[in-house]
Amino acid sequence: MSVKEETGFARVAAATRAIAPLLAGGALTHVLVRRLRAGQEALSRAQLQFRTAFEEAPIGIAVVGLDTCFTEVNHALCEMLGRTREQLVGLSVLELSDPSDREETREAFRALVEGEIEVRRAERQFLRADGSAVWCSLRSAVVRDGDGRPLHFVSQIEDVSERRRSAAALAEAEERFRLAFEGAPIGIALTDLDGRLLRVNDALCEITGASAEELLAAEHDPLGPADAATAETGQAQRLLHGEIRSYRLERRIVHATGRSAWVSLSVSLVRDVDGTPRYCIKQLEDISERKRFEGELAYLADHDPLTGLYNRRAFQRELEQEVARGRPDGAVVVIDLDHFKDINDTLGHAAGDQVIGRVAHLLARRVRRQDVLGRLGGDEFAAVLTGVDGAEAERLTNDLLSLVREQSVVVGAEHPIGLTASAGIALLGRGGPSAARSGDELLVSADIALYDAKDGGRDRCAISSETQVRQAQMTERMAWSQRMRDALERDGFVLFQQPVVDLATGLPKSHELLLRMRGEDGELIPPAAFLPIAERSGLIAEIDRWVVRRAIATLQRQRELGRPLRLAVNLSGASVSDPDLLDAIQAELLACPPEPGSLTFEVTETAAIVNIEQARAFAAMLAELGCELALDDFGAGFGSFYYLKRLPFDYLKIDGDFIRQLTTSHQDQLVVRAIVAIARGLGKRTVAEFVGDEATLVLLRELGVDDGQGFHLGRPAPLEELLSGSGALRG
Ligand code: GH3
Ligand code: MG
Repeated sequence: MSVKEETGFARVAAATRAIAPLLAGGALTHVLVRRLRAGQEALSRAQLQFRTAFEEAPIGIAVVGLDTCFTEVNHALCEMLGRTREQLVGLSVLELSDPSDREETREAFRALVEGEIEVRRAERQFLRADGSAVWCSLRSAVVRDGDGRPLHFVSQIEDVSERRRSAAALAEAEERFRLAFEGAPIGIALTDLDGRLLRVNDALCEITGASAEELLAAEHDPLGPADAATAETGQAQRLLHGEIRSYRLERRIVHATGRSAWVSLSVSLVRDVDGTPRYCIKQLEDISERKRFEGELAYLADHDPLTGLYNRRAFQRELEQEVARGRPDGAVVVIDLDHFKDINDTLGHAAGDQVIGRVAHLLARRVRRQDVLGRLGGDEFAAVLTGVDGAEAERLTNDLLSLVREQSVVVGAEHPIGLTASAGIALLGRGGPSAARSGDELLVSADIALYDAKDGGRDRCAISSETQVRQAQMTERMAWSQRMRDALERDGFVLFQQPVVDLATGLPKSHELLLRMRGEDGELIPPAAFLPIAERSGLIAEIDRWVVRRAIATLQRQRELGRPLRLAVNLSGASVSDPDLLDAIQAELLACPPEPGSLTFEVTETAAIVNIEQARAFAAMLAELGCELALDDFGAGFGSFYYLKRLPFDYLKIDGDFIRQLTTSHQDQLVVRAIVAIARGLGKRTVAEFVGDEATLVLLRELGVDDGQGFHLGRPAPLEELLSGSGALRG
């Protein structure tokens, strides 16, 4: 109870006592005083309760005089405003208000006093003692006396800073979401659990070609699975049941303009705090461009650039698929042009290319829709003829051969050159399922039959026979292929080296790597036994790659050991025209670049000529990476000198045929002298192979050949021996 109130009651009691004698009788006075006292006590109790309630209330309460100054404040309000009761009482509300609010506050007090409003409700900021501001929600009313005269204001004040902060944070989060949603470069939709779209962004409209209104009005989810049986429906169910958090898929959609587009769709589910699914977020990205690019890459990986037919890899894949179907009929045909090298040699490589292109075109037009046609490499084509028996396969093949014979006359030479081809046929599924053969086996069979046709005079086809001799040939070829695959996998190849000696100093300047295969009994098999089969079966690329990888690793190891050396590796003819292999070699070289000049690639002159453009690009790449190029077996082909001009090589390796009898053959000496003169003129070096004795060596020096190789200068020996001993120095 305030001092004022207490004195108020004391005054009433004193006044009562004062008037008591004026009242009739002392007993009455006594009763009156007693009642008064009882009333006084009840009032005190109520006031105490009121005061406690006022003081302890969890919200701020203030009594404000008509002059806008606080007369009473409770504890909560003091806390809220960061001031003591003493500081607040007597202070005007206006002084605590934000300056911009003062006018409005004054006006509100006036309206309350005038009775224009009963209650004032507002959210205002108040200044705390420390200068910070606190947001408060206010509820103020005026208290009047019995005559309606205003006595003071009573206000309830609540701290709403926290609520306002979370509301602001929420609004900000919503705004951020809105901006992200609207401005996202990918399409986003919110859908309810039935798939009805609730909200879509601009990107989604763009991808689908539909307006937001159209999308939102759609009965069914235009982004949902097309029918209930799809795997996507299953995914959606799993998502709903909480088994997965989201799923993603790629699918085609039809744009409003009618064209189809590829999209990547990812769907996730939003649940409320109780885990109840609320809605889905679907993100849609237009991946048509990527799909097209992937399609182009897949096409390039599967097709031969010259003819547009399937390349060997893709053809083999198609063949395996046909074999896997297990149909009782069908045939594989391998077709190879006859004496095609003559065309290259007489008309040039570009004309040769044109012929290959024309033959491809003819064959493609004649094979049936259900057949598969490919170019295995060089002048060799292959077809899978589906659903044919032996007789029909032969008839169709002869058809193809006559087409080549009749239509592929090569003009441009002085006299038109006729062109023919030979073919070998192997039948699928012969002998029932127990005799089921792999695609590889069938290709080998057809290839062996092709050689029968060539032996039989060319311009004909032969069907693979099951004679014992043929069976044995087949088995042997397959066994060799298998052995080579095993060797690749299990390190069954061994590298030998033979030194290349600088004839001026007599010192080895580099080492040519030579390949051997370890036989079953540990014996070493020379490359002549297996490389031709590797070339015919397409394994050669992998083998060449293995050698290159080994060479690069060896160079690096020796460099780290402080015993650097120089190596030369041979690339097969097939590899030089295999763009994939050349890319792979480039990648290996880039990953671990050898010291400039430490790695030479030897390419036979004929191989380089087969695909001069590719060889040129390869030579340029090698030069850029600090590697060198040697033209091997130089002088063996017809077009040697012509192509010299077109290839940026570093060495000419004179064909061994000109060296073996050099000391006795005047002609050979003339050829070597000519080659040396040309190489010198071009600023290149020459290497002679097959240097078998001292006399040849002396003569080569005289003729001006730079380097030599042969038994007389160093026999082939295991590379490991060279690396482990003092061999690197010895050569
Ligand atoms: P055969 O009758 O025995 O088949 O003799 P051929 O002269 O046709 O020789 P073969 O089939 O063994 O070799 C095909 C030749 O085709 C080897 C190579 O000189 C040449 N060649 C390989 N690929 C290409 C190419 O892409 N373009 C051109 N123009 N020639 C190529
Ligand atoms: Mg041929």
